[in-house]
This record gives sequence, structure tokens and C-alpha cells, in this order.
Amino acid sequence: LSKRLDVAAMPLELRELGTTFNGTLDRLEEAFGRLTRFTADASHELRTPLAVLRTEVELALRRNREPDEYREALRTGLRAVARMTELVDGLMVLAKADAGSADIERTRVELGAAATEAVEALGARARAQSIEIHSEGNAVQVRGDRALLREAIENLLSNAVRYNEPGGRVDVAVRSEGGQALVSVRDDGPGIPADSLDRLFDRFYRVDEARSRAQGGSGLGLSIVRWIAEAHGGTVDVASSPGEGSTFTLRLPLVDGAS
Ligand code: ADP
Repeated sequence: LSKRLDVAAMPLELRELGTTFNGTLDRLEEAFGRLTRFTADASHELRTPLAVLRTEVELALRRNREPDEYREALRTGLRAVARMTELVDGLMVLAKADAGSADIERTRVELGAAATEAVEALGARARAQSIEIHSEGNAVQVRGDRALLREAIENLLSNAVRYNEPGGRVDVAVRSEGGQALVSVRDDGPGIPADSLDRLFDRFYRVDEARSRAQGGSGLGLSIVRWIAEAHGGTVDVASSPGEGSTFTLRLPLVDGAS
């Protein structure tokens, strides 16, 4: 959208058309900017009341005075608040990504360490599964934003855990291959039907709407992973078939460990 026609260099009879075209692009860019700013501002504003709501409901639950059926309603409310917080956080990340205003650090990041942190961050949610990390020591390094890269791996991991059966297996492999740094997250869960694969990274897309909703999540996780990968000059892809589990692979430009 940032490209404009060089009207002065155009043939005389086309200049008016060129000016109109450039004006339309200006207006489009402005409208797009307003939209992304609005989404970023709206999600920012929603965070405070959500945090208040969460604290109050947690407090009510901890006081332990309400009758059981009321406590159940409070728990349901708390889960809804958690989901909404996840949604709002995701929308904010993507709005900043769209606006090109996300702060991306460029430091040397060791992906094995980032993967270990992501597993730790998953904490209790990972308890029902066995997660193994295979990493090539400290050799796999990229230039980028440690927190974002960890978030990308954490999103892949939390999906691998969420859509798997209790007792399932998740393997995380960090390695280098042909000048690229690779992080693969493999699960032995239900897998993904072929006709869903190319829409998987779209915002709000879910394979099985009803089931995914019941399992929580925002529907934004993989679109955030894709943005993080691309913001680092990399890609993310998936290999999966129903009943065979899924493998998501992040590929990022490798930096030389010695430099
Ligand atoms: P969500 O918050 O719904 O998990 P994502 O963008 O992270 O959103 O994932 C989109 C959809 O892709 C999920 O709703 C789910 O249907 C499917 N999916 C993602 N990861 C896996 C996986 N490891 N195994 C099976 N299905 C998956």
C-alpha cells in the first residue's frame, strides 16, 4: 500500500487518473490505519475491566461462602473471562502487527533455551502429557525477539497439548538444517483433515468449531505464530493427517554461533 504512482513521469493524458489512484491509496491507507489503531485501542481498554472482573470472581471463589451451584456459575464465569483475556491479548498483538507498530527486538536468541522456557511457561496445562525436548545444544541461534519467539513455540505447544488426549506425547525438536533454524512441535493427537490445512493459520479459523470452543483458546494462536515467523524472516508450516498426529515446524534464518 505504500507504493504510489510517479504522476509527473506519466503521459499527460494519464496524470489525472494517476492522481486519483494515488488519492484512493492515501484514503485506503488512512482507513486501514484507523481500523488497526481502533482494534489496538479497544483491546487495550478491555484489559483493565477484564482484570478487575477476574480478580473479583477469584475472590468470591476463594471466600468459599456461596452455595455449590453458584460456585459452579462463578467457575464458568472465570473460564469465560480467561478466554476473553486471551482473545483481547491476541487481537492486540495482531493489530500492532497490522499497523507495523510492534516492537521487535533483534538480539541473539538460542532456540533450545526458548523452547525450554516455553515448556515451563505451559506449566500445569502440560501435566497430563509427556513433553520431550530434543535440542542441538546451544548451536541453534537466530536473531530476533526472545519473548515473541518463545510465544510462538508456546502457542504451538499449547495446541499440541490441548488437542491431544490425556497421556498423549509431544516432542519438541530444535535443530539446524541448511542455514535454517528449525523448531518442530509434534503431537500424536487427532491430526488435521487435509482440506483444513491451508486455512489453519487464518484468524479465527478452527477445524471443529464446537469442539475447539469447548477446549478453549482464541482461534488466533496460529495466526500469531505465522506473524512472528514472518516478522523474523521465517515461515511456519504443518504436516498432518487424521489419526496420525500433527507436526508444526518453524523455520527461521540461522545465525552463525561464532559470530
Ligand atoms: P485455537 O485457539 O482454536 O487453538 P489456533 O489458531 O491456535 O486457535 O488453532 C486453530 C485450529 O487449528 C484449532 O482450533 C484446531 O482446530 C486446529 N489445531 C491447531 N493445532 C492443532 C493440533 N496440534 N492438533 C489438532 N488440531 C490442531
